[in-house]
Amino acid sequence: MTTTLITGGTVVSATGRSEADVLIDGEKIVALISPGTTPLGTIAADTVVDATGKYVIPGGIDAHTHFELPFGGTEASDTFESGTRAAAWGGTTTVIDFAVQTTGTKVQDGLAKWHDKAAGNCAIDYGFHQIMGGVDDDSLKAMRGFVDEGITSYKMFMAYPGVFYSDDGQILRAMQTAADLGLLTMMHAENGPAIDVLAAQLVEAGKTTPYYHGIARAWQMEEEATHRAIMLGNLTGAPLYVVHVSAKQAVEQLAWARDKGQNVFGETCPQYLYLSLEEQLGADSKEWGAFEGAKWVCSTPLRSREEGHQDHMWQALRTNDLQMVSTDHCPFCMKGQKDLGVDDFRKIPNGIGSIEHRMDLMYQGVVTGELTLERWVELTSTTPARMFGMYGQKGVIAPGADGDVVIYDPKGHTTISKDTHHMNMDHSAWEGFEIDGHVDTVLSRGKVVIDRGEYLGAKGDGRFVKRGLSQYLI
Ligand SMILES: [Zn+2]
Repeated sequence: MTTTLITGGTVVSATGRSEADVLIDGEKIVALISPGTTPLGTIAADTVVDATGKYVIPGGIDAHTHFELPFGGTEASDTFESGTRAAAWGGTTTVIDFAVQTTGTKVQDGLAKWHDKAAGNCAIDYGFHQIMGGVDDDSLKAMRGFVDEGITSYKMFMAYPGVFYSDDGQILRAMQTAADLGLLTMMHAENGPAIDVLAAQLVEAGKTTPYYHGIARAWQMEEEATHRAIMLGNLTGAPLYVVHVSAKQAVEQLAWARDKGQNVFGETCPQYLYLSLEEQLGADSKEWGAFEGAKWVCSTPLRSREEGHQDHMWQALRTNDLQMVSTDHCPFCMKGQKDLGVDDFRKIPNGIGSIEHRMDLMYQGVVTGELTLERWVELTSTTPARMFGMYGQKGVIAPGADGDVVIYDPKGHTTISKDTHHMNMDHSAWEGFEIDGHVDTVLSRGKVVIDRGEYLGAKGDGRFVKRGLSQYLI
């Protein structure tokens, strides 16, 4: 067993910060040592990492990724190998991806397929949520095996009729089963059938550019579906987690339900904090013309800055009306993938790739005063661990926890570009973003996988994490 001592840094948790050295033995953190309490010479570590002047934080947990996801006639461009490697570069040491059951297939087959895709290929630890794309007697029965499989959350879609969509009766039945088993219900909350009509009307009127993707997926459709999901959760007693919240009105629904004491939670993503309908979906470039906006076609869509959604998301992160930030990493290249929709925004594969930049982008919230340092750690690591049943093993720097540690240099600098990122994409949704701060060193279960610009990990280092039930319920 090798031992590693991280010295001189400021250890930041969700609840505070302290000057301490961190001792890792093999894969586990074994001690936090305050300065002056232990004669340094008594600890003989094999490796000493100097973190003077830097933050020592628990490795990031990105609870919403889609590697190799089939979508719209193509497949998300990051594999488990390239996606988890990019995650490590960005200070994320655990991902939770979505195993997929599409309508007409078996849940167990979807899960087995995802295990096959991931096993032996990941640079960092990974878990799965299960997408339920066809709630029926068979799949409800399959849900009863989820907890034993270490899959304690599952997702349904109120959007994408014919692909992933569940109607209200199906959602009700799944939630009844989930309430019984203690599973967390994750919801893509958009009124898909109504959106599809709006989208068809726009295309018919000749409004085919990416901008209209954002118009068709109106905030009313998100607010309405969020409310409906909340009420179905209220009726069944199923805890509810709404993914990729982007409309301020949807946040208001979550806050309303939480104020009544209901187990309702929400995540947002960096794109909904920084980017907008006007600037990105409406972008026009020399290379792509008005199709440039396709780079930012995702669902839920980017919202209008004039309407104030972005400011509201930051506020909700401070007030805990939103509890987490995940990426919804779902990358597609412009050439050969996004360009499937060059004449019709409905055919653009939905998704943005951000897995490498989440920790940096959220740290900018600390730089600009939107978030405290502790809240940054809470939103990106500690709450994801608690929400999805991994806390203690993940999400904290404490004796007994996995040696998942990031050394973050607040004086460092990062420029984001497709030319330097490690995601398998021919563009970056974040091109030209200048980041105050830098991920210096990343340890995954005690092994240094990133060290000052060098990747030292390997595919197969990452292991499947069997998760417990949510530790975040009210
Ligand atoms: Zn997603």
